[in-house]
Amino acid sequence: MLMLPDAFAPATALSARNAEPGWWFVVAGDQLLVRLTEAGVDLPIAPEWPFADWPIARRIDLGILSGRPCYAVEAANREPPSGLVFEGLRSLWTRLDEALIGVAGQALQLIEWDRNHGFCGRCGAPTQRRDDERARHCPACGLLAYPRLSPVVMVRITREREILLARAPRFAPGVYSVLAGFVEAGETLEQALHREVAEEVNLRVRNLRYFASQSWPFPHSLMIAFTADYAEGELHVDGQEILDAGWFAPGALPGLPSPMSMAWRLIQDFVAQRTE
Ligand SMILES: [Zn+2]
Repeated sequence: MLMLPDAFAPATALSARNAEPGWWFVVAGDQLLVRLTEAGVDLPIAPEWPFADWPIARRIDLGILSGRPCYAVEAANREPPSGLVFEGLRSLWTRLDEALIGVAGQALQLIEWDRNHGFCGRCGAPTQRRDDERARHCPACGLLAYPRLSPVVMVRITREREILLARAPRFAPGVYSVLAGFVEAGETLEQALHREVAEEVNLRVRNLRYFASQSWPFPHSLMIAFTADYAEGELHVDGQEILDAGWFAPGALPGLPSPMSMAWRLIQDFVAQRTE
């Protein structure tokens, strides 16, 4: 699960004095710099930037994890020092320590945000990073730019012993998942969910219940998962966002999304309940 670990204390400006050796989260797009070892995968640990010959484009203090400072860095180029490689964050899931994966997700999002807000969106002047909060400030017009979060509602719909799973064009062949969609400006989570269900599969649902949430830093989503019961309507897919959908029994599920996803958790929870 991608989330900040409980042992993490965010900080926008870490003190340089008496700094413990820190973890360096060097990111490039959705990739993270790692060292492949006999035992698995590691991150660079050092009190200062450990690669003197490798120029930095930007560096952001993240906070403290289990007593160690954490830094996010975008290097000036994607040619890592020997012995280190960039790997996609998704491919590191279960290979890199779970707490580090959570902080790496934040590093990806903050580097992306910082890079995209170097200039004011209102007046075009160069912005400055603030030390006292996670924001960039425009000294010319005063506009503040905060890291962007895009809420996505996700819903597991069940009807008696079956679950509704649907196939979107972007999915790998054979993979079906629960429904999901972005919340639009002005909507509540509930409104977004009812709208998505009606648009994508032509159904009405009832008994919405909150399930859990998950950070999804590809590039800046917050997944908010619900469960619901089928209420009425005839299943009909929109043919655009959803290509196919059907009701599945727990013993006859199609291909499923990645185990690191909230969708997978929702589906596994259904299977566990129905096979008790
Ligand atoms: Zn401005």
